[in-house]
Amino acid sequence: MTTITITSLINGKRLEADGSRDRLPIVDPSRGETIGELQIADADEVGAAVAAATQAFREGPWPRLSVADRKVILLSIREALMRNADELADLETRDAGLPRTGVRLRHVPRMARNFEYFAALIDTQSENAYRQEPGFLSLETLEPAGVAALIAPWNAPLALASMKVAACIALGNTCVLKPSEHTPMSLVRAVEIMHEAGLPPGVVNVVNGPGPVTGDGLVKHPDVTRVSFTGGTGTGRAIMAAASGGLKPVSLELGGKSANIVFSDADIERALDGALLGIYTNNGQQCLAGSRILVQRSVADEFIERFVARTGRVRVGDPLDDETEVGPLAFEAHLQTVLGFLDRARDEGDEVLAGGERLERGGYFMAPAAVSVVGPESRLAREEIFGPVASMLTFEDEDEAVAMANDSEFGLVGYVWTENLRRALRVAGAISAGQIWVNTPLMRDIRTPFGGPRASGIGREGGMHSLKFFGEPKTTTIALTDQRLEKMGG
Ligand code: NDP
Repeated sequence: MTTITITSLINGKRLEADGSRDRLPIVDPSRGETIGELQIADADEVGAAVAAATQAFREGPWPRLSVADRKVILLSIREALMRNADELADLETRDAGLPRTGVRLRHVPRMARNFEYFAALIDTQSENAYRQEPGFLSLETLEPAGVAALIAPWNAPLALASMKVAACIALGNTCVLKPSEHTPMSLVRAVEIMHEAGLPPGVVNVVNGPGPVTGDGLVKHPDVTRVSFTGGTGTGRAIMAAASGGLKPVSLELGGKSANIVFSDADIERALDGALLGIYTNNGQQCLAGSRILVQRSVADEFIERFVARTGRVRVGDPLDDETEVGPLAFEAHLQTVLGFLDRARDEGDEVLAGGERLERGGYFMAPAAVSVVGPESRLAREEIFGPVASMLTFEDEDEAVAMANDSEFGLVGYVWTENLRRALRVAGAISAGQIWVNTPLMRDIRTPFGGPRASGIGREGGMHSLKFFGEPKTTTIALTDQRLEKMGG
């Protein structure tokens, strides 16, 4: 039975549901049941959201507030998000099927922390003055760039979209956020909470609808000056092409097929823990997954045997249950895509050592899969699956491990497990990726750059990298003395 209609949120208010408008079902992936509907934002509605953001930028209080006053509101948003953490975690779990405990204990606090961090960053941020030429003073300032389009993915909407929103508005910009049609519930509520915490209307607007309609219209809108996107590589290409007409800077956080390298001198127990977390966390749907597990041959038999045994014991179930480690995939078409990868892999000679089958529990569940792949050319070793599927390969020595790690169109992250410090640094230096984790999985410091080269994207998020993306550097040069000027035509 349909219970909710999710609409866009413009100028601080959710729009009224309108029975004559086009809609999409909102499906709870853990039950496969429709729990609501999404009212699609058409071109006019996208235009209204951009107009609200433009007016808030040109005339509203937000860009004109003192840094101290903006900081007060950002910190108030932080508090309000944490006060409503249970509700946000419930919505994210029903929307995306993520285990609720992880959302409540990690994603929502991370979301709140993004606002706290960017509040602190603008408060401590200094600008530059140059006095190289006598008699002149040049000031370098970072001006807010205007109205940003923020396009969020479905795999961790709250955690991933909030860094974009916090960095964007901290600098005095305004924005229009587009969540995925698969997960429209949590972000619109989060933005409503931001308004309850004192955010002026029009600063953050939300449009809901499918990417090729609502998202594309937003990216191409002439009043949008920045496009920040997290999602698939193919979509990233389409968005970059759409933004190119308006010469809009884009930040693209895209996919990965990251190597998780286990050397024989690693602490094998910890490497096992890290490898399981690296691939199966977030229901296996994470860009930074260590999805290619490369194990040194001398320890491979033992490591793979133990990895496979533990994969078989991963607790798959209702994401509302505290004991659940892996929930359903986010939507049915995605489950079919992931299962399709496994069917083809079997045909191509890869050996599925554990899991890989659909679990008949009403929703979009599958048993996490560990697959011994034929070789580095195997599709499972090259393509991003974005599900709980570990592709396992072996290597002889360090050179081969590095060569295998770098044999990828992606370059998001890499994992290295070794107790040898020099080897750790050598291998970290030799892997072409935006971030390397040594003896730890998934640790993201909000201040460090995150993102990767090639098919993993363009630009970095985190710390000043985020802030700079949403800014326009400006130089103002002032004559301090009456310099002699040529009398042209005089
Ligand atoms: P998509 O790239 O299709 O979706 C991401 C967002 O883009 C959604 O809001 C989607 O809307 C929107 N979108 C889709 N088409 C367009 C368009 N033409 N114009 C504007 N917006 C559009 O996601 P996938 O289904 O491919 O999902 C997951 C991918 O995201 C994975 O490959 C993963 O690697 C990547 N990812 C990368 C991360 C990173 O930080 N690097 C983090 C998380 C995920 P809608 O869904 O409504 O169509």
